[in-house]
Amino acid sequence: MAWDFSTEPEFEEQLEWIRTFVAEEVEPLEVAFPGCEFLPLDEVRRPIVDPLKQQVRDRGLWAPHLGPELGGQGFGAVKLTLINEILGRSSWAPIVFGTQAPDTGNAEILARFGTREQKDTYLAGLLSGEIFSCFSMTEPQGGSDPRVFTTAAVRDGDDWVLNGVKYFSSNATVASFFIVVAITDAEVPVHRGASTFLIPAGTPGVEIVATHQLAGSLPHEAGHSLIRYEDVRLPASAMLGEPGHGFEILQARLAGGRIHHAMRSIGVAQRALDMMAHRAKSRYTQGSSLADKQLVQAFIADSYAELLQFRLTVLHTAWLIDTAGEHAARKEIGVCKILASSVLKSIGLRAIQVHGAMGLTDQLPLTTVVLGGIALGLADGPTEAHKVNLAKMILRGYQPEDPEWPSEFLERRVEAARLKYQGRLTEIPALPGSPR
Ligand SMILES: Cc1cc2nc3c(=O)[nH]c(=O)nc-3n(C[C@H](O)[C@H](O)[C@H](O)COP(=O)(O)OP(=O)(O)OC[C@H]3O[C@@H](n4cnc5c(N)ncnc54)[C@H](O)[C@@H]3O)c2cc1C
Repeated sequence: MAWDFSTEPEFEEQLEWIRTFVAEEVEPLEVAFPGCEFLPLDEVRRPIVDPLKQQVRDRGLWAPHLGPELGGQGFGAVKLTLINEILGRSSWAPIVFGTQAPDTGNAEILARFGTREQKDTYLAGLLSGEIFSCFSMTEPQGGSDPRVFTTAAVRDGDDWVLNGVKYFSSNATVASFFIVVAITDAEVPVHRGASTFLIPAGTPGVEIVATHQLAGSLPHEAGHSLIRYEDVRLPASAMLGEPGHGFEILQARLAGGRIHHAMRSIGVAQRALDMMAHRAKSRYTQGSSLADKQLVQAFIADSYAELLQFRLTVLHTAWLIDTAGEHAARKEIGVCKILASSVLKSIGLRAIQVHGAMGLTDQLPLTTVVLGGIALGLADGPTEAHKVNLAKMILRGYQPEDPEWPSEFLERRVEAARLKYQGRLTEIPALPGSPR
């Protein structure tokens, strides 16, 4: 089976344009408007950011993750990887190209499961990048295990009444609506008893109790909120999808999100590696450049090797999604999710080390690489839970064998070879000096 990641020359021209555009037009936004990516555009930012978005639209590159039915180009996952790895270099690039999480995933489930009214109200604004959204699932008592979720919605006439507390709901402070996961049938296992609701911001009973910032973030960032939902009365039409199908919807959302994060992480890690290599060639100590020190060379070689393996894994996963569908790539998506976190942490740490003390300050975009790696080891489910799932999927392909003597045990293999050559060889010939 051929694995073909090649793309046509016209697409390579698009990539070249994106590379230059991100470096020259988008990266400066990071210092002009730090931490403002998810703040609604004001009179200062809009005149600068809107024309950049328009250039992206004019090149046919807006929202490259979307299919043509939603106004995208239907690039597919391989081309999206090649685009997203460039966009990953800058925190502003996903905003300028209309690919920012969590809105991408929320738009996809809205398009797939939303009612006509829900789509008419929110989809256009979300796809054009004019509004932001929030996915509210994790609860204070635990995010990794949905069986501990207590937020519930009960029927009252034609309405639903929703009560509960959610934690770490990203961008709640700027969101126009919340997608909330709630138990609607406590009598059945949670994967059949949860539903999702679309709740407009400002609905009575929705209270943002507190907003926590990740370490290293700026106070004005949209942050991650603790939300109390108290007697929130919702019409039946507020449900997103069918009752009891909440987990199908969020699985559909999270699989896409995980691979998109991995694609962007390639670019984050590449930028850290570029910084490490530049610094190694530029800084002198004890009579030679850092680039001449073998331990620093090992940093660079190890980082390149890790990044190359990660990049090829993501491209292969993308190719599998394009050729066989997302379901067929479940194991590979799990691997991408696990690797994204570890690659960012290890390359980010080495890049900091090579920059010395300065690497640890807010004057360089390097601590954010490591913190981003830590965040990716938690967001969309912790690495450990993904490893557990991955191992289960892998183990499904294996059967137990003799508990005493594994099939690869030499005596077992000799026995099998004897059977295979029965009649042609009376005995497996012993090697010279062997006791057999
Ligand atoms: C940057 C960021 C953004 C986020 N945005 C959102 C959002 O928008 N909406 C939302 O709903 N949530 C969001 N989250 C929350 C995220 O989904 C949870 O942090 C995650 O599911 C883990 O839940 P927890 O933090 O409660 O950790 P816990 O569930 O308490 O787990 C703690 C640790 O226990 C271990 N562990 C857990 N399960 C297992 C297992 N099965 N096997 C082995 N070890 C295990 C792991 O080491 C894990 O890190 C975000 C998180 C981050 C970091």
